[in-house]
Amino acid sequence: MPAEFFSKPVQYLKLIGPRRAEAMQKLGIFTVRDLLYHFPMRYEDRSRLLPAGACTPGEVATIRGTVLAAQDAKPRRGLTITKLAVHDGTGIFYAVWFNQPFIKKTLSPGANLFVTGKVDKSFGPVQVMVEDYEVSEGGDPLGAGRLVPIYPLTGQLNQRLLRTVVKAALEETGSKAGEFLPVELLRKYKLPFFEAALASMHFPETQKDLEAAKRRFIFEELFLLQLGLAARRAAVAARQKEYRCRPDGRLTSAFITSLSYRLTGDQVRVWGEISADMESSAPMQRLLQGDVGSGKTVISILALLKAVENDLQGTLMAPTEILAEQHYLVMRRALAPVGVEVGLLTGSTPKKAKQLLLQRVAAGDLKLLVGTHALIQQEIVFQKLGLVVVDEQHRFGVRQRAALQYKGSCPDTLVMTATPIPRTLALTLYGDLELSVISELPPGRLPVKTFAVLPSALPKAYKMAIDQLRQGRQIYIVCPLVEESEKMDLQSATEIAEKLAAGEFRDYRVRLLHGRMKAGEKEEIMAAFRQGEVDVLVATTVIEVGVDVPNATLMMVLDAERFGLAQLHQLRGRVGRGGHQSYCILITNPKTDDSKSRLKAMTLNADGFALAEEDLRLRGPGEFQGTRQSGLPELKIADLLRDAQIFQTARQEAVALVRSDQNLTRSENSILLAEIKARYSGSGGYLGIG
Ligand code: ADP
Ligand code: MG
Repeated sequence: MPAEFFSKPVQYLKLIGPRRAEAMQKLGIFTVRDLLYHFPMRYEDRSRLLPAGACTPGEVATIRGTVLAAQDAKPRRGLTITKLAVHDGTGIFYAVWFNQPFIKKTLSPGANLFVTGKVDKSFGPVQVMVEDYEVSEGGDPLGAGRLVPIYPLTGQLNQRLLRTVVKAALEETGSKAGEFLPVELLRKYKLPFFEAALASMHFPETQKDLEAAKRRFIFEELFLLQLGLAARRAAVAARQKEYRCRPDGRLTSAFITSLSYRLTGDQVRVWGEISADMESSAPMQRLLQGDVGSGKTVISILALLKAVENDLQGTLMAPTEILAEQHYLVMRRALAPVGVEVGLLTGSTPKKAKQLLLQRVAAGDLKLLVGTHALIQQEIVFQKLGLVVVDEQHRFGVRQRAALQYKGSCPDTLVMTATPIPRTLALTLYGDLELSVISELPPGRLPVKTFAVLPSALPKAYKMAIDQLRQGRQIYIVCPLVEESEKMDLQSATEIAEKLAAGEFRDYRVRLLHGRMKAGEKEEIMAAFRQGEVDVLVATTVIEVGVDVPNATLMMVLDAERFGLAQLHQLRGRVGRGGHQSYCILITNPKTDDSKSRLKAMTLNADGFALAEEDLRLRGPGEFQGTRQSGLPELKIADLLRDAQIFQTARQEAVALVRSDQNLTRSENSILLAEIKARYSGSGGYLGIG
């Protein structure tokens, strides 16, 4: 393992002075390791060398020859054309450069070279418009006669220089490049060793070598990342929590009995997993994932009740005030039958009320507290915190989750994502958590029919809405997001509500719901809607998550192109919750290809997982639901969607390895640990490696 060599600054290499080193930094290349892992973005097959006369006009070809003479011409100001007469062994052709007067000096008569460029035969003698060239100095050429690497570049660097520098670095690495991945694994999966793979990645002899090298580096990247995560998971699992739940069931059974439905098979299984975690001596670290409407809320309530029946406290953190309020309302209603109280704490809780809450929480008199990240504040002290539930984790960083956990002594932690994410991404983003998935929806749900239509079709859409209202159903109309301010959101929503109440929906009861209303007012409106006293609910996106009215069958979203896929899917999830056929109408005039693809994906996919994969494909993992802020290290070569298969293998092996050597302290693994540290120590502690 050439650790010292790899971490040297690139300036240490020949040919790289301060200027070039600076240009390289723009590409994220600081060390020799960065340079060697700056993989080509593609390869050009220049292995076939033909004489100029045999080349097809219009095609890009690589030709080898000897310079006979050089000549410059300046047909007009600002244009220099350099022509070299080159003999290719069978005849003469002209190699042509534009505005590169120094070429004449570099390539003097007698020089042997390879030129690559477009072949032009329309002026008599063959001309080649040179895109790339290389002087042949006897050794193996880097830019011709082979598969040639094409690197991502910035202005001050060129392909030729990068190839030369990489080649030199590879040669210097040479035998110093010991293997750091376990050799059994490389054998088992028929992956090439480090040194050979690195050479093939940059200067492949054959396409087959290249493919093998790519597989190795994809495996390597995913394996090291998963290894770091598995190690962190194991470290947490080795801890002992202070408060451990016993099987009890007084409250949880009563709650299940109070429900008007039976839990689905998936819910029962997931509840079993959570329950077992809470009864074990190690703190629970679990992610609960399930599509919109799959019934996660009820599971989180069960977990909170289990804490309460063990005389412990529980808290639920949501990313926004609106979400926190909604959870609070849902829970208050759900917990009434079992007589358990719940409190709400957000940034806008009045001072006095807050003081009282804090006192009761500290005294252990209030067992359940729902809130926003206001819960992380120092002044909040729980008497006996047993369970932390974090909703919509992807909006929080790993650090905020940790901050809440510190409120207790290794409390159980349940993370919920209301939006499904592809399994590979989940296992990476939440790689330090165990995963529980609810994949079936409660029985009797019909898939929501989704249409995306132009604003000119609004009258038709309203007709459809009225049709639903006549049948006794209720509808939602979601107003456009006005980006400038919440105030303008409100203004446009108010106007729309007034217009509709006086126009299309004058025979029905229309109410407006928006984010700036007081909690009590929102509650009153939602209660009225729930009880069927309101027919049309015009809303800003406050209803995005958590609202649950089975009689609502139509969701109309105005200016739908302004919403992200995950958000649209959440909105659509508000209907289709009862036995009636439901509809989602997206009113939209998409301008960009991106928004067109998003809306098309909505009409084609009812399933949140499929949509999430589509979203990942459209936006890339970095942009996926703000995962960038979560601190997920950027993947250089692996693609979580394309490489799902390799991912699976890499993860299994990582888990197995950590099972046999939890802290990677065995001597044969120390080299792996060093490699993980070298790569990820800068990534915001994502892997818990400082
Ligand atoms: P999520 O939070 O996963 O989006 P919710 O927990 O809000 O979903 O549940 C959606 C709706 O389904 C709620 O009305 C809930 O009462 C109902 N529900 C949950 N589980 C079941 C079930 N097993 N059978 C019928 N309805 C259910
Ligand atoms: Mg929910």
